[in-house]
Amino acid sequence: MRLAKYCVCSTAHLPAEERRAFDSLIAQAPRRAGRLIVDHDVLSIEAHQYGFAVHLGFFDDNPDRPEQVSVTLWALLTRAKSCGADWLSFDRDEPPMADLPVYPEDEEGEGITPPKIVLCGQCRSEDLICDAAARWDKGAQGWVVEAVFEEAWCDTCGDTHRLEVSGTGVPDGQEAGHA
Ligand SMILES: [Zn+2]
Repeated sequence: MRLAKYCVCSTAHLPAEERRAFDSLIAQAPRRAGRLIVDHDVLSIEAHQYGFAVHLGFFDDNPDRPEQVSVTLWALLTRAKSCGADWLSFDRDEPPMADLPVYPEDEEGEGITPPKIVLCGQCRSEDLICDAAARWDKGAQGWVVEAVFEEAWCDTCGDTHRLEVSGTGVPDGQEAGHA
C-alpha cells in the first residue's frame, strides 16, 4: 500500500462558468465497466458525490500551464502540489478558505440545468415506468441500462401517456401518446 495525500478545497474557489464546465463534463461522461470515465484533455478527474478530484500527476508532463487549464485552476492545483498532495479534491461542502477568492453563482448559473421532470399526461404523477434494455457488465457485476424505450406507463393511474416538462413545471414538450 502507498499513502496518497489529498488536498480538499471548496468548489466556490472555481469561477461559476468553470464549475459548470466540469459539471457538464462529468454529466456527459460515459461509463466503462460501470465506472465513470471523465474525458478531459489534460487532467485525470474522478467524480465524487460532492464534486470531483484532480490527480496532480499531470504536473510531471506539464511543468507549465497547459491551455486547457484555466489560470485560476492552475493556481489552485499548484498550491495543492506545493503542499505535497497527490490529489486536489473540489468539494462543495468544504468551507472556502479566507485567503482565496470566492466565485458566487452567477445569473446564468441560477437554476442551471433544472432537473427534467417526466409527468403522466393524465394524472400528472411522476410515478412512471418504462421498458429498457440492459447489458450484463462483467466488470461492474451488474446489469447496465443501455437503452430506454420511449413508451412509459403511469403506475398511479395506469395511463400510458406521458408529458415531459422542465424543472419549472411548465410543459415544454408534446404529450407523447402511445399507439
Ligand atoms: Zn397517471
